[in-house]
Amino acid sequence: MFGTIVWVLIGLLLLVVIWRTGIGMLRSMTSPLPAPPPAGEMRRINVRYRCGVCGVELRMVMAPDQDPPPPRHCLEDMDFVAPVE
Ligand SMILES: [Zn+2]
Repeated sequence: MFGTIVWVLIGLLLLVVIWRTGIGMLRSMTSPLPAPPPAGEMRRINVRYRCGVCGVELRMVMAPDQDPPPPRHCLEDMDFVAPVE
């Protein structure tokens, strides 16, 4: 009788350990992305890019530096179009 209780307790303990490990692994896999740099380090820009494949155009208004690498669309680098006034 006593032996059974001990085994049940050991089983429960193992369950808790496995459960904790699982949660920890989940947490490490879904760790948040690095925070963006503070606003003071971002530069306000205003440039347009066009996708040479499908023709979509977008405007970039904020970047870590004045001359950021072009974004990609359709697996290609987008073409720099013109600064927007
Ligand atoms: Zn595209």
